[in-house]
Amino acid sequence: MDKKQAAKAGYGITGDIGGLKKRKYWTPDGREILQVPQIIETVNTKTKEPGERDGNLDRWLGSPPENPVPYCPHCDKWHDTEELVEECRERAEVRTRKFDKRAKRDLAKDGEIGELKEQMAEMQSMMKQILEGINVRPILQQPSGTSQENPEEPGSPEASV
Ligand SMILES: [Zn+2]
Repeated sequence: MDKKQAAKAGYGITGDIGGLKKRKYWTPDGREILQVPQIIETVNTKTKEPGERDGNLDRWLGSPPENPVPYCPHCDKWHDTEELVEECRERAEVRTRKFDKRAKRDLAKDGEIGELKEQMAEMQSMMKQILEGINVRPILQQPSGTSQENPEEPGSPEASV
């Protein structure tokens, strides 16, 4: 609530809005920022009066914060207390861990799929060889007739055992 009050007060104070003059803003943790105001034209919903406001005041304060609050590097915002920053850090870490886990799992999955694909290709070529072996012999043997089967049989290992 303090932030909003401070922002309102700051907007009224500066007399040199307009042109490309920079003005001073403050971050909620008390750092000073010099920026060109980002004027947004507004219309009052009740009175229909045109007006304008400084869009920078959505992000920064127009005057130094009375109660500076800590900046949070984890979400690039400000929290009211250090505890909340700490909580935000923990949440960010959990998010990162989850993301890492998922990334690793996806990588593993990709690896598995790659392996499966290789195995499939191997099996396909094996199947092809087997099928060719099965198909080729009868086709080659058929023209030579049944007469050739008999002389071979005594010599085959199956028959001798
Ligand atoms: Zn945060």
